[in-house]
Amino acid sequence: MRFIVTGGAGFLGSHVVERLLAQGHEVVAIDNLITGRWLNLEPLARDGRLGFLQQDVTEFIAVDGEVHGVFHFASPASPGDYLALPIQTLKVGALGTHKALGLARAKGARFLLASTSEVYGDPAVHPQPETYWGHVNPVGPRGVYDEAKRFAEALTMAYHRVHGLETRIARIFNTYGPRMRPNDGRVVSNFIVQALRGEPLTVYGDGRQTRSFCYVEDMLDGILRLFESDHVGPVNLGNPDEHTVLELAELVREATGAHVPIEHRPLPEDDPKVRRPDISLARRVLGWEPRVSLEEGLRQTVAYFRQIVGDITEESDRRAGR
Ligand code: UDP
Repeated sequence: MRFIVTGGAGFLGSHVVERLLAQGHEVVAIDNLITGRWLNLEPLARDGRLGFLQQDVTEFIAVDGEVHGVFHFASPASPGDYLALPIQTLKVGALGTHKALGLARAKGARFLLASTSEVYGDPAVHPQPETYWGHVNPVGPRGVYDEAKRFAEALTMAYHRVHGLETRIARIFNTYGPRMRPNDGRVVSNFIVQALRGEPLTVYGDGRQTRSFCYVEDMLDGILRLFESDHVGPVNLGNPDEHTVLELAELVREATGAHVPIEHRPLPEDDPKVRRPDISLARRVLGWEPRVSLEEGLRQTVAYFRQIVGDITEESDRRAGR
């Protein structure tokens, strides 16, 4: 079969591409390379079954031939990225989702939206089930991502209801693993890169806020099962194993063996105080739950960052003029 992956050069998008190729399919990855990186796809591109279109999916997407499925993963996704790219984030969630849905409709293809736990905002219900409508500040700095994804979900459901499009919505909670950008600003990559460089771990606020971290391979299993399922409404995908940011800092110190101090920084505006997925629905309709422990996932991720840490050091040396 032949699939489109928007955001195919990104962290999750490139893993989707890799899985689909491994299943024997043809894939066209689309990415404007603003936050995606060609090097995520380069090793996969040696396979003749991968095509690449460098374009912004807010513009009309022209793809010839048959398409059986569209995985819509294009969007800045790390808080640092979407705070730096607020208009692009709103545009890709709204206009980009419209174009990707239009492509799926024209091809009679199944569509999967990569949505987010950010639709729940700073949640007043804990853990978060899909039935919770969320607590989002529409005009705060994070609103650009939260509202874009909420709009994307609404548009996806409208295409399903009006046009009968086969749609799936994955509400993806914090995910980590190989291919995260070392400088993407998320907590797992920040802490690991800081530890490997012998720098202090930057804990925002008092570090008592919680997140629940899912290893990327578990997440991919969930995404592909959801795509294959017949469940139309949103499904939470994430690991319910909840930790404070301070606990994560300790686990990263253990996984790297780095004796680095903690340095507190101001808490970003509207930073959710708690987050944990209720995955009862995913267990029931997908028969899915994460298997990789945070300790094991961190070991794999540290190994990945160790391989590229030479590059990181060279890059910072270059910037510092050394
Ligand atoms: N965080 C932190 N230090 C960092 C980066 C993030 O303490 O260097 C905190 C951040 O304030 C948030 C949590 O870690 O409470 C997760 O942040 P991340 O950017 O990974 O994703 P979020 O879950 O906020 O979308």
